[in-house]
Amino acid sequence: MQKFIDLGLSEELIKALSGMGFEKPSEIQEKAIPQLLSEDTDFLGLAQTGTGKTAAFGLPLLDKIQIDKKDTQAIIIAPTRELAIQIKTEMDKFSKFKRGISIDAVYGGASIETQIKSIKRRHPHIIVGTAGRTIDLLKRKVIKLQSIQYVILDEADEMLNMGFKEDIDEILTYTPDTKSVWLFSATMPREIRNIVKNYMDDPFEVKIDPKNVVNTNIAHQFASVSRSNKLKALKRYVESLPNIYGVIFCRTKSDTGFIADNLSSFGYDIEALNGDLSQSQRESVMKRFRSKGLKLIAATDVAARGIDVSDLTHVIHY
Ligand code: AMP
Repeated sequence: MQKFIDLGLSEELIKALSGMGFEKPSEIQEKAIPQLLSEDTDFLGLAQTGTGKTAAFGLPLLDKIQIDKKDTQAIIIAPTRELAIQIKTEMDKFSKFKRGISIDAVYGGASIETQIKSIKRRHPHIIVGTAGRTIDLLKRKVIKLQSIQYVILDEADEMLNMGFKEDIDEILTYTPDTKSVWLFSATMPREIRNIVKNYMDDPFEVKIDPKNVVNTNIAHQFASVSRSNKLKALKRYVESLPNIYGVIFCRTKSDTGFIADNLSSFGYDIEALNGDLSQSQRESVMKRFRSKGLKLIAATDVAARGIDVSDLTHVIHY
């Protein structure tokens, strides 16, 4: 196993990583970082969330950015607002000792004026965005990608599942042919292969076998109950676990509200997390959950995918 220093990263980054408690690189970091640092090729990373892929692209990207140039040099597109914010937050931590680097996040549900002002004032080297808001800002000529060098598509399969294929195509039309595309996806459906074929040139490929990343200390349990008893069963289960700290995944937004309302009426610290909440409500729910002010959130997959929260005791698929 290598150390971060062997991968060729700058001292500023190594210092930040040790402050963050990153001791040794994960598999995808070990494979991706030296490649991305040394060559400007296209890159295809088949890896799930939890493998450390944010650092796998974020660290080499930060070392590639020319801080003295004021252009936006890289754009990272993520499927959800939460993920975009999470990536920006993580990148800010990595770049703690890189003076002068600026990273902005743009996403819907928050004031576009504030985002426009920030971009105009800061000239971010890196923009992390969701597809819709990015396109909006491209059309308003606030984001300019003519001289972009790196386009990173994170959770590309999820973006396609959510119907962002046209948006991704559109964003890529604003970019020059000379850019590198780094695409990360947990799965490789035909639509992803099409993106690879259409927009990438002989990408360097890294595949992380999911068998190697899924935590081994997870016990799986299921309960078979009739629909009319589902909520009761969930309550009974939650009641039996005084230290539960977890996510209850639901299929629909209304289910998340239903479960949150019901359990909170029994005194549980639970909130719903779904796309009907305003952006500030979503952020406030996540903040309370991360600080353990909430023991449970009832979330749709769309709202919570890729979200990284430590020390969860349970993930329940309702
Ligand atoms: P990701 O797959 O990028 O969402 O990362 C999952 C989690 O692992 C995040 O909390 C990261 O901060 C953390 N992480 C990533 N790489 C490392 C590493 N090499 N050592 C320790 N933690 C890491």
